[in-house]
Amino acid sequence: MLSSTSCCNPKELAHAKLATAMASAPDQITPANHEASRPSGATADLLVVGDIVTNDPGAPTAQAMAISGSRIIGIGSTSDVEGLVTASTTTLKPGGFILPGLIDPHMHIWTSLLTYPDNDLSHELCPTLDDATATIKAAVAKAPSGQPVCFKNFDPSLYPGEPVLTRSILDQLAPNNPVLVWNASGHFMYVNSLMFQAAGITDETPDPPGGTFERADGKMTGVVGEPPAEQLILKGLPQPSMADITMYIRQILTACAAQGVTSVREAATGALAGPKELALLHQLNAQARFPVRVSTAQFAVLPGKTPVEVAAMWKAAGVTPFSGDEMLRADAWKVVSDGSNQGRSGYFLQPYLGEDNGGKSDYTPETLRQALKAGLDDGWQVMVHTNGDAAVEFVLEAMEEILPAYGNHDLRHRFEHCSFTMDDQLTRMAAAGISPSFLMNHLYYWGAAFRDTILGPKRAGRLDRVASAYKAGLRPSLHSDYNVTEVHPLLSARTAVLRRTKADDQVLNAAECATPEQALAAITTNAAWQIHADDRGVLKVGNAADFGVADGNPWASDPSGWADIAFQATYVGGEEAWHG
Ligand SMILES: [Zn+2]
Repeated sequence: MLSSTSCCNPKELAHAKLATAMASAPDQITPANHEASRPSGATADLLVVGDIVTNDPGAPTAQAMAISGSRIIGIGSTSDVEGLVTASTTTLKPGGFILPGLIDPHMHIWTSLLTYPDNDLSHELCPTLDDATATIKAAVAKAPSGQPVCFKNFDPSLYPGEPVLTRSILDQLAPNNPVLVWNASGHFMYVNSLMFQAAGITDETPDPPGGTFERADGKMTGVVGEPPAEQLILKGLPQPSMADITMYIRQILTACAAQGVTSVREAATGALAGPKELALLHQLNAQARFPVRVSTAQFAVLPGKTPVEVAAMWKAAGVTPFSGDEMLRADAWKVVSDGSNQGRSGYFLQPYLGEDNGGKSDYTPETLRQALKAGLDDGWQVMVHTNGDAAVEFVLEAMEEILPAYGNHDLRHRFEHCSFTMDDQLTRMAAAGISPSFLMNHLYYWGAAFRDTILGPKRAGRLDRVASAYKAGLRPSLHSDYNVTEVHPLLSARTAVLRRTKADDQVLNAAECATPEQALAAITTNAAWQIHADDRGVLKVGNAADFGVADGNPWASDPSGWADIAFQATYVGGEEAWHG
């Protein structure tokens, strides 16, 4: 469940992997408009009675909530809402706390489903190298002889000595099956002899431009570097079918609901298969309503096309700002300015520890402006992946220069991850109308590695500065960047408050700890505001009836226990969306 792959940077090989199945997806979006058939009226269809936590500072708790159609029409004491109840009102008395639905404003359906069925070798599940090799051996033992077995999220940077899984190691673990292990960075994969054979690659196969097959004494070692070489290996594997893809999408969204989530933003829609991705999501949501609402960020880059041509493709598919319906709406334009910090491809003002370079942007100042303007010209909220402090600076300078010409349309532009920032950058973001969304569990999972081996303690302390963002007048949100980390907003919020690293339980710069209220706002109201869903994140009259039923109340409990709160059910627009 943990991958340091640069989420937002899908590789060419990913386009190829989905191409066959996605050929049958529709080209145009057709919104289902599920909620249009359930208009709100003056009396309640559903009455929810219990321990209601509203997240409304004026009235933080309630006993009863009346819902008509998809909306809350009354909330307060039982007597406050009794006038809204009729003989046909259904009463729900859940045995738990009723909480506002949580919001993950940046996760990935599409890039995640590429490796979704692969066996997980993350450090979370395999804390030692022996655990990883035992997992490989066990998975291979279960597979029929000859069937390829794939693994994901192997992260050597988290094991002593940064070990790699060579061809000879994998041959011993898997003598009868092709095996592929993805390095968590996505920049490397490790394969055995049968995998080379399945892909038709021999010791004589030349390295493709931009890719490497590592060799020793003329023999392949099994270490395969960069997409042009990785793509040749993937040719030896079966591709996912449309049935596979649709099953994975539903499973990914269901896992979100199980953490109390009722809204997400898919943060790079179209990156693999263009507008067909969104058209397919609409088709699936029409067949059976999704368990969470999905806001999409349209990807600005497709191979061989200029940003203006990509923008035209989205329009031709019927996708314009805020098009769609209550369950599935297109809200943003996504641009990626740098890579992954833990993969040492984030763009920094100073070099990485032990290196003489601090990363770079794939854009020039001019091509960056073209990519941003293509979205702004069409009225999109712009959502820019900026990981290192130099990336923040590079994009902020561009936004400061070009935004004034577009006037103030309350588009709530965002910097994604915004992981490392200087003080003046947060202040300037506030002035420019750009808010940060932090991948908060960067700190939990990689905080110790940033401090000790990647960036050093001073820079690492500037990771995910939630407290400073609030001080600068910003409205930050927290996100998972799934499948970089798991969709689990209460874990993200816990990390924002405690700032403790998983590896050694050390606090990484206490001055940046959020208050509990700030952390909870970042996964409810602020996240709602950032995805242009002002009717979510608070249970109050007029808002969407999106809520979860949980065995704990984070608004009145110690943050150290938040991640253990379990959900029993979620409701979206007043209808059950998931139950445990
Ligand atoms: Zn992302």
